Amino acid sequence: MTEDRVYNFSAGPSILPEPVLQRARAELMNCRGSGMSVMEMSHRSPVFTEIFTETKEKFRSILRIPETHEILFLQGGATLQFAAIPMNLMEGKTADYAVTGNFSNKAAKEAEKYGTVHIACSTADTGHNRIPQQEELDLSADAKYFYYCANNTIYGTEWQYVPETAAPLVCDMSSDILSRPVDVSRYGLIYAGAQKNMAPAGLTVVIIDKVLAGRELPYTPQIMSYETMIKHDSLLNTPPCWCIYMLSLVLDWLKEQGGVEGMEQLKKARAKRLYDCLEESRLFRLHAEPGSRSDMNVTFRTGNAETDAEFIRFAADRGLTNLKGHKIAGGMRASIYNAMPMEGVEALVDTIKEFEQKHV
Ligand SMILES: *Cc1c(COP(=O)(O)O)cnc(C)c1O
Repeated sequence: MTEDRVYNFSAGPSILPEPVLQRARAELMNCRGSGMSVMEMSHRSPVFTEIFTETKEKFRSILRIPETHEILFLQGGATLQFAAIPMNLMEGKTADYAVTGNFSNKAAKEAEKYGTVHIACSTADTGHNRIPQQEELDLSADAKYFYYCANNTIYGTEWQYVPETAAPLVCDMSSDILSRPVDVSRYGLIYAGAQKNMAPAGLTVVIIDKVLAGRELPYTPQIMSYETMIKHDSLLNTPPCWCIYMLSLVLDWLKEQGGVEGMEQLKKARAKRLYDCLEESRLFRLHAEPGSRSDMNVTFRTGNAETDAEFIRFAADRGLTNLKGHKIAGGMRASIYNAMPMEGVEALVDTIKEFEQKHV
């Protein structure tokens, strides 16, 4: 790590791989002989067209997305998809929602405007500290889709299995996309805001089975219609060019690290190191139950808000930043996305142990 950088544990926008930042800097004044940066060029220019096409191809190849599915580069964050999904796929009827955290809850609330939301399960009663088992899912017979959030960024839980449902699966993968292989053919739609594990904020990637397009409600804005966006290859209007370019650099870096298989190995190693340390701790306890724990966001606390705050300051003094948990969950949260080097996790483990020695 470069000396004046910190280990940034922010949940999002979050850490990007250092080689990616360096390459972006090197290409900033003159990208591919254009004499300008990607921020300054037309989205219809030959250089950007090349970048756009390459990014899509790289994304398809790295996640092994079958030809049945289209890749869209959209804006509006993950939150716009909370509305776009029911507008495009619900047909004014029923959809099943698994509520395992704040974002799936928000998505379910938004969907209520467009049809009937059936709550297939909720973990609210235990503070969203776990993921339900398949047998706990109450599926409706006529659901247009089954919606879930693969990784609960705020509470630090992650689905360890793909639910079995008759309805097409719709999944928010904002905080764990590209961290492991995914059998995309099992999904009707996958989406992810870029700013957790992929690129800067401003880009949302949607992967959609093309058979699901063309069912939108009549008043769906053009910009939110999957069919329209597929027809225009995401270029109905100006796309988030810089973010798409940054994603292409991240995908190059990811490929060098062994692709999603490489990422999976690394994330398991990072998470194990941190969970083992916290399991052994006599001061800190983990929020998420074993079997439901996220490899991306590790949530823990001492049980005393003042001690938590002291630990957060203690870590920040050592160059470990943004460990404060989300305000609705409290405590600490260490986001250990793809770009977090193992040294960052080692530094956090050392800091936890040092702090603990002073407090127990
Ligand atoms: C951050 C996050 C969101 C919200 O993303 P925005 O881009 O801010 O709308 C939704 N879902 C998950 C899982 C997230 O981590």
